[in-house]
Amino acid sequence: MKEEKKLAYSVERFADLEVLRYYVPGFESLSLRQKTLVYYLSQAALEGRDILFDQNGKYNLRIRRLLESVYLHFNGERNSDEFRAFEVYLKRIWFANGIYHHYSCDKFMPGFSQNFLENAVKDLDVSVLPLRENETVEEMISDLFPVIFDPSLYPKRVNQADGDDLVQTSAANYYEGVSQSEAEAFYAAMKDANVAEPVMYGLNSRLVKENGVVKEQVWKIGGMYSAAIEKIVYWLRKAEEVAENKSQHEVICLLVKYYETGDLKIFDEYSIEWLKDTSSFVDFVNGFIETYGDPLGMKASWESIVNFKDVKATARTETISRHAQWFEEHSPVDERFKKEKVTGVSAKVITAAMLGGDLYPSTAIGINLPNSNWIRSKHGSKSVTIGNLTDAYNKASRGNGFREEFVYGEEEKDLLEKYADLTGELHTDLHECLGHGSGKLLQGTDPDALKAYGSTIEEARADLFGLYYLADDKMVDLGLVPDKNAYKAEYYTYMLNGLMTQLVRIEPGCAVEEAHMRNRQLIARWCLEQGKSDHVVEMVKRDGKTFVRINDYERLRTLFGRLLAEIQRIKSEGDFEAARSIVEQYGVKVDAVLHAEILERYRKLHLAPYKGFVNPVYSPEKDEQGNIVDVRISYEEGYAEQMLRYSRDYSNL
Ligand code: ZN
Repeated sequence: MKEEKKLAYSVERFADLEVLRYYVPGFESLSLRQKTLVYYLSQAALEGRDILFDQNGKYNLRIRRLLESVYLHFNGERNSDEFRAFEVYLKRIWFANGIYHHYSCDKFMPGFSQNFLENAVKDLDVSVLPLRENETVEEMISDLFPVIFDPSLYPKRVNQADGDDLVQTSAANYYEGVSQSEAEAFYAAMKDANVAEPVMYGLNSRLVKENGVVKEQVWKIGGMYSAAIEKIVYWLRKAEEVAENKSQHEVICLLVKYYETGDLKIFDEYSIEWLKDTSSFVDFVNGFIETYGDPLGMKASWESIVNFKDVKATARTETISRHAQWFEEHSPVDERFKKEKVTGVSAKVITAAMLGGDLYPSTAIGINLPNSNWIRSKHGSKSVTIGNLTDAYNKASRGNGFREEFVYGEEEKDLLEKYADLTGELHTDLHECLGHGSGKLLQGTDPDALKAYGSTIEEARADLFGLYYLADDKMVDLGLVPDKNAYKAEYYTYMLNGLMTQLVRIEPGCAVEEAHMRNRQLIARWCLEQGKSDHVVEMVKRDGKTFVRINDYERLRTLFGRLLAEIQRIKSEGDFEAARSIVEQYGVKVDAVLHAEILERYRKLHLAPYKGFVNPVYSPEKDEQGNIVDVRISYEEGYAEQMLRYSRDYSNL
């Protein structure tokens, strides 16, 4: 019998975070050329780290460097409470790529005193401090300390509060000196409703006002963030030489050209080539991709992931994709909003080999790109679910007491034990492979019509599409689930999460803000309310504790279908008022009493509500001529060790 090596998944815990390790099964059996390609792309994935820090707040890089100097050179007592609190603060900043919580976007408040940091800084040799030219230590302190210690100064990275000037009240570094209405006017003037294939305006630039003129600072070689982008391009050019095929070679060439010019038309060309390349075994994302960090949802944060295909698990998503047309035709949405022909829904399960930028350390488990609306409707999109990361999450959470505390009864626990891993993955597959790619906008609908509510509505649409079909007999017919009861595990998990347990991520007194969380609460609360008279789903009390009980799974499915139809209508028609009303009514507000109860129950479990990953380390082995003859992978590096190494070796800005 083959002996199975016991793998450790948990690396460390601090604040509300747990750092895990993921493994890269199959790397050793890649060809030398593929390993080399992964290595070069991994380097490119790490070179953009500083870009994200700067995008997340204009003081982030200087604060990180100051704190790292203190951390490395501190002369005092490292076992003191103040130093320990300092260490936690720095670890949180590494995790969040800045001084704001990666999920809630609120500024971290240090658990140590201003006095402690001031003494520690003044105790250091000035040569290790990140001073600007001619800057004194005192000046640096008076510049940075208020940003660290004053809770009212730049308190939030992304503010989504309805009615505020979202640009001026958000600390994200995408705008400088402009108001929300000026930014909106700037881009409204660029948009031309007659252009059938519009670029994603504003995607790769910072918007500033200089001498009264509003203009873009474009992120490209020779523009903003040039030093980091040059390094990214250096590695991409090396990757180009070991590309697997012509199509992938072209993808990398176009990406380089885009980084050189900042031309969003070339980015669209690149995106199309990238989504068409489904034959390459190794694949990657590297660029300004997702817009969640911009309060107006236009400007993209930098991210990267390098991966290769998980052949066995991909058979599952290929089955789903092959039947995309059937799913589109049978969906409960109005015929006018359906695509006549669902094109290019490609799907695969991948093994992540390197995470960078906005995908590190906190990461996504499914990705569907590109984001451009016209490209998606004309050329389709590429969908992946990341098998080895999901696996690490599942393995790390076994036996942690969560289900025992929150799941209603034995029947539900058995369901989850039996099916939840599988149906969870399947829901992600359906969300990414079919959900985002389904449906269409009515002619003339502005793709940005839903503004700040767009992301929530889009995620709700994809989630509902998946939920609706999980319970379909087609799942059993296609051999994707073992029997007709399996879907109930995901229904229960989803409702429990949306109604209750995801609130462990929210501070007392705060509202739900992040798009995926709003979407889950919207769906769960809407179904709870709409099914109330029939007792489809109930919140029941037992021994003073609240539980979710689902009485009628089939009718819950009907409710998911009804809501899917309405959400698709809102999206297709660009009905901003309806989007605002449904999101604000169901997705945002938190029941304070229930929230307090959940936090208290959760606290007793001593679990971390957020998780992220350290990356493996790749080391090329070279012969005397400098040719790579092998690439080794290792999993020994610790969290602080990795962060400090990245700050030393990839500090480009
Ligand atoms: Zn999604």
